[in-house]
Amino acid sequence: MSSAQSGAADDPRRRIPRTDDLLALPELVEARGRLSGALLRGLVSEVQDRARRGELPPEGVQAELLGAVASRSATSLRPVLNATGVVVHTNLGRAPLSAAAVEALIASSGYVDVEMDLVTGQRSKRGTGAREALLAACPAEVPGGLDALVVNNGAAALVLATTALAGAGELIVSRGELVEIGAGFRLPDLIASTGARLCEVGTTNRTHRADYAGAIGLETAGLLKVHPSNFRVDGFTSAVPITDLRALADAYEQEHGRGLPLIVDVGSGLFTADPALPDEPDLTSALEAGADVVMASGDKLLGGPQAGILLGRAETIQRLARHPLARALRADKLTLAALEATLAGGPTPVSQALHADPRRLRQRAERLGAAAGAPVVAHEGRVGGGGAPGVPLAGWAVRLPEGLSPLLRVGHPAVLPRVHDGACLVDLRCVPESDDGRLAEAVRAALERLGSADQGTGG
Ligand SMILES: *Cc1c(COP(=O)(O)O)cnc(C)c1O
Repeated sequence: MSSAQSGAADDPRRRIPRTDDLLALPELVEARGRLSGALLRGLVSEVQDRARRGELPPEGVQAELLGAVASRSATSLRPVLNATGVVVHTNLGRAPLSAAAVEALIASSGYVDVEMDLVTGQRSKRGTGAREALLAACPAEVPGGLDALVVNNGAAALVLATTALAGAGELIVSRGELVEIGAGFRLPDLIASTGARLCEVGTTNRTHRADYAGAIGLETAGLLKVHPSNFRVDGFTSAVPITDLRALADAYEQEHGRGLPLIVDVGSGLFTADPALPDEPDLTSALEAGADVVMASGDKLLGGPQAGILLGRAETIQRLARHPLARALRADKLTLAALEATLAGGPTPVSQALHADPRRLRQRAERLGAAAGAPVVAHEGRVGGGGAPGVPLAGWAVRLPEGLSPLLRVGHPAVLPRVHDGACLVDLRCVPESDDGRLAEAVRAALERLGSADQGTGG
């Protein structure tokens, strides 16, 4: 026997368990109920590859695989403890759902009567429950009565309203309201993509009623007002209130015998004014001031699932619902169920985080700080999600070494802190109190790893 052959026979890679044997392990057979065959085969070959590269002894392959299978779930999305103090965190999926909404999601995940009247056995209108909950949440009195419609998200609501009401006509909008919402999403581009033409009036900081009046003409198909959600212009500013735009639309109708729809995008989805957020517009006030239709996202301040909410005069909403585009933008049963439950259920996590008692936040931070041996510092939270820019939410954070942040992010549970000013700040505002123990444990484990890493590098 040549030495090369005996070398091959001794090659530890030959002892790596075979795919079929690993897939036949009882734990893997059992896991087929919750994980696909393809995913399991992927896990098997990943572990085998690591053994082939010498990162794992062949004898360790089975135990490593069983660990990987046990900790793997069918979704790769990982729950994160939001320790940033930013309530509506876009990168963390905006609003966490209320207990009632989660229950509704599970209940509606099977067959449900979303378009069926169980009493008559006849087909019924889709999303009646969500519609009624929206109407119950909005006390606005409008001519001809109020109606509501739910679509996929805020952007879809805007697309539907501008397409169905303005068509290829001209929409008048203030230059102070042509905003980019985030990740390069520009409202004017979205509206232009529907075929409507934007007629910009006024300047960045000041727009007057006369600017709108001067622009209204035979080409005009509607008036649009957009809440510039994520930025604020301070100083020498003026904007035209909805009541004035209503008066202009009414005057136009008197003269031309044709209405000018007044579309108002409030963005964040407050139903009624919140004293904690004095500059944030709300749906009810916008409707009472004269909007034909108002729209907002379901997963910002409303604290529900991703959805676009349209509320308005019954005639206008029905026009939107009849437009062919409404079918392409319609919300699914899970959204309808979670939205209704958000409105009908107890306080949402968003509302709890916004109105958290600073003294309680301080107590919780001090407990965590004491356990971690770290100081507690004053820390301002934020509304986030393009809402109420510049409104600080007074609170507290535990100040930890900056190097802890990457370890917290990949820990179990994953924790997202705020990195600021050379420190890793852990703010408890958006962490459910029932998770304080898990958070403390994650911080302890991360500190331990940071400590051993420092020793490993000799410093
Ligand atoms: C957030 C926002 C949108 C977009 O809503 P999505 O739900 O993210 O699609 C549109 N308009 C305004 C004013 C917003 O603040």
